[in-house]
Amino acid sequence: ARAGIALGSNLGDAAANIAEAIARLEVVSIPGEPVLKASLHRTAPVNCPPGSPDFLNTVVEIAFDGTPSELLAHTQRIERELGRVPNPVRNAPRVIDVDILYLGDIIYQDEGLTLPHPRMREREFVLLPLSEIRPDMVEGNC
Ligand code: ADP
Ligand code: MG
Repeated sequence: ARAGIALGSNLGDAAANIAEAIARLEVVSIPGEPVLKASLHRTAPVNCPPGSPDFLNTVVEIAFDGTPSELLAHTQRIERELGRVPNPVRNAPRVIDVDILYLGDIIYQDEGLTLPHPRMREREFVLLPLSEIRPDMVEGNC
């Protein structure tokens, strides 16, 4: 299935962090299937602690052969490998955030994962890059 994944970083070299995360997602994508990549968008922090740096955000779409939980395991492993450390402060600056927007048309919910991502349609920093690679998914939204 095609999997939309949102990436964000506002700690360290954000562009390098996002590039590294995309490289690792490409490893997970089905070989020979296209990987769609939006451009990088610089966005002001939303609902973040005072003084938080701007974000770089983008969206990619890979081809994934596996379950929602397996994809989440990959995205969380990539966050860990890039050095994201747990922070109890909501929306604290992060080296990398890797959120699954959708996996085909699967509707899924458990304690660690909701698909499609429940907040993607209200986030400009998701809809703008998503509209570059999948305008059909954003019609009328921006
Ligand atoms: P946020 O992405 O909202 O800034 P976190 O990255 O800390 O916050 O994620 C919080 C939790 O959201 C994660 O532990 C993860 O299990 C859960 N989660 C639920 N749905 C999704 C999804 N579609 N993609 C990624 N994480 C999700
Ligand atoms: Mg996240």
